[in-house]
Amino acid sequence: MSERAIVHMDLDTFFVSCERLMDSRLVGKPVLIGGTSDRGVVASCSYEARTFGVHSAMPMRMAKQLCPEAIVLRGNSGIYTKYSEAVTEVIQESVPLYEKTSIDEFYIDLTGMDRFLVAISWQQNCDSAL
Ligand SMILES: [Mg+2]
Repeated sequence: MSERAIVHMDLDTFFVSCERLMDSRLVGKPVLIGGTSDRGVVASCSYEARTFGVHSAMPMRMAKQLCPEAIVLRGNSGIYTKYSEAVTEVIQESVPLYEKTSIDEFYIDLTGMDRFLVAISWQQNCDSAL
C-alpha cells in the first residue's frame, strides 16, 4: 500500500484577497481587517501591512500605531463565505477527497493522484511537442 499524500491548503491573506476582488484600489496598499473598537483585533492583514510589523490577532489599536497609513476595514463575513464556497467548489471538482477545516483552510487527499498527474504532465509534453 502506498503512503498517503495529504496537502494542507491555507489561502493566503484570504479576507484581504476577497476585499481586493471587490475593490482593486486596495491592491498594493497596507490593509487591516478586523474589529475597529478599542478592544478589536486584526483578523487579516496584507503583506504591505506586515512589513510594518503588523500580524493577525494583534490588537487593532497597536496595528494602527505601527502602520498609521493602513486602510482599516471591518470585514464582511457574508462575502468571505461566498468566495470560500467558490474555492470549495473548485476543490470539490478537482480532487477525490478533501476536508474543509475553516473558511480558508482545506486538507486534500491526493493519494493515488500521481497516476493522473503523470498523465497530465505527459499530455502537456505532447501538446508542447506539436
Ligand atoms: Mg489563511
